[in-house]
Amino acid sequence: MTAEAIIERCRDLVTQPLGAVAEQWKTRHPGGKVVAVYPVWAPAEVIHAAGMLPLSLLGGGTSVELTHADARFQSFVCSIAKSTLELGFQGLVKGVDGFVYSNICDVARNLSSIYQRNFQDVFVEYLHLPQNSTSPSVAVYCASELRRLAAGFEQALGLGVTPMALSKSIDVYNALRARLRAFYAFRIAEPQKLSTVDLYVVLRAATLVPPEEAIPSLDTLLAELPQRSARPRDRLRVVIEGAFCEQPPIGLLEVLEEAGCYVVEDDLLLGWRWITGDVAGEGDPYDRLGAAYVNQAVPSSTRHEGREHRSVGLIEKVRRANAQAVIFMPAKFCEPALFDYVLMRQGLERAGIPHMLVEFEEKMWTFERTRNEIETFVESMMFD
Ligand code: SF4
Repeated sequence: MTAEAIIERCRDLVTQPLGAVAEQWKTRHPGGKVVAVYPVWAPAEVIHAAGMLPLSLLGGGTSVELTHADARFQSFVCSIAKSTLELGFQGLVKGVDGFVYSNICDVARNLSSIYQRNFQDVFVEYLHLPQNSTSPSVAVYCASELRRLAAGFEQALGLGVTPMALSKSIDVYNALRARLRAFYAFRIAEPQKLSTVDLYVVLRAATLVPPEEAIPSLDTLLAELPQRSARPRDRLRVVIEGAFCEQPPIGLLEVLEEAGCYVVEDDLLLGWRWITGDVAGEGDPYDRLGAAYVNQAVPSSTRHEGREHRSVGLIEKVRRANAQAVIFMPAKFCEPALFDYVLMRQGLERAGIPHMLVEFEEKMWTFERTRNEIETFVESMMFD
């Protein structure tokens, strides 16, 4: 299969409602169960080890009109929280048996309990992931949360997790993450051959199928991409930061590239990429996953990073990707991203790295003003 055909299949998959994705998998796996995970980190290994299909739960995007969820949230709340609840009201996640939320922010905390209250026929779990990454007990604590999640699956869905199954799932997801890292490394090296929109749909599709199915297609694509003919253009190499939870519309990513940027790093769909290398260690798989969550994690606005300034991880990312600027892209009303914007901006200014802010909502249709702003930013840098 060609690179274009694989990417087209991924595009088809990501436009389908989550419930349809779940039902299709269930027709091939009668009696199977599906669990969807709200951003940011997805403990996909634990779900997979219970024999279930883990899916990313990323709100309604541009396709869902709010008819019920608005009445259950304050008006100043991000779109992904409302549209995720709306998916339930409109039956668009019918077929998903369980939902996992975590303490990335107060909105996600509320969403978890509102979801549970409104949909009592599905399994809903809220993970209290560690916030203080400097405490010596933090990895042990994280492992205990994952054990609690697994016990919940057994009790509510009748599917247990054995240590051996979890170790195997860690291996499978290590293999998947290695492929995802390879795509990111390829885009840094040759962004003209892999647009961010293409990378995004491929990555998002990988969160909607079992990893064993995703890996062969990703391998084919990785082998095909270098053959693509594309001339490098004179564009600004940028890092997108702040889009770790609510996902920007694909149209906005297209505009970024059309306006003269090569996106060479981003924090889109962080959940499946949270752990930056193979999960280390050999002992108890819960302990290994808990330690990886803490010690092998990408820097993120959704948890405290010890004594380091918020901008340290971002500046490292800019240097590693040989980027020239940062586009802060927080969702409207996303507190973790907007609070960090202030600190990251200070750090970037000290380091002499140019930046601009582009706020978005998942259901955004017109991009002309944004296009003009990005074009002006790019021109100011390229023709300085
Ligand atoms: S978009 Fe931001 S505020 Fe909204 S749920 Fe996600 S992290 Fe929380």
